[in-house]
Amino acid sequence: MSLDQPSVIQVGIWWSDGGSNPGPSACHADALPAELSPRASANSSSQGGQHRLASARVTADPVRDKNSYSIRRSSRARRTRLTIDEEGSVIVVLPLRAPARVADELVHQHSSWIARHQAKIAVRRRALALRPSLAHGRVLHINGQPEIVRAVTDAERAALERRLRRAARAAITERVAARSADVGVTVRRVTIRDQRTRWGSASRSGTLSFNWRLILCPPTVLEYVVVHELAHLKVSGHGTAFWRLVARHYADAAGARRWLKQHHDEIRHALD
Ligand SMILES: [Zn+2]
Repeated sequence: MSLDQPSVIQVGIWWSDGGSNPGPSACHADALPAELSPRASANSSSQGGQHRLASARVTADPVRDKNSYSIRRSSRARRTRLTIDEEGSVIVVLPLRAPARVADELVHQHSSWIARHQAKIAVRRRALALRPSLAHGRVLHINGQPEIVRAVTDAERAALERRLRRAARAAITERVAARSADVGVTVRRVTIRDQRTRWGSASRSGTLSFNWRLILCPPTVLEYVVVHELAHLKVSGHGTAFWRLVARHYADAAGARRWLKQHHDEIRHALD
């Protein structure tokens, strides 16, 4: 599921290809939320950009002045692209031969879009920075159960992550086994990974991959991602037939998608 729906993509969502029809082998459904790294494609208006999940250092520093930006030249770029990274910095990617003034015009032209996204990023980063530190103890919901977790050293943090990955594997494989027959598909393998920009993906060979951080989401949301990927074993892309199939097997896909979009940075940065 591209966690990002077309609407998010308009502002440049994160990391998915943004396409409504990703190739048969991969699903971007699981793209993490867009706003952390919106990208807009200049030539085609500010819509249709790609987004990537942010990785990250989380601080409460104010985002940069909206008038400042940097230019990156790319020999592969065919079009001019306007990007805001997770820190709120504006980057304009220009094809090698494009004059620099194009960047200035682009930034000017999309100044309100930039300001809007920088404001959102600032709010999110502040919220993350205000959380109790992991060293002091932070509440995580693990498979829906609230628990105070603490990790002071790197070793403790690594141990916590291993524990969460094991819990994710157990919960996800259980849900895959429970739902695959309803959807009418055969799953050959389930892998639990640390995707930067996806919640999950499905390959034609029958392998499903899931982000271990799903264990920090409500079980109903984890189940939605499982159903979404199972559905991709029948229908690739995110067209009408795909969503109809998902709706037959999961009642509130829109609600689950909304939850993922709203909580994505919190989940993404849960151990930061
Ligand atoms: Zn998908």
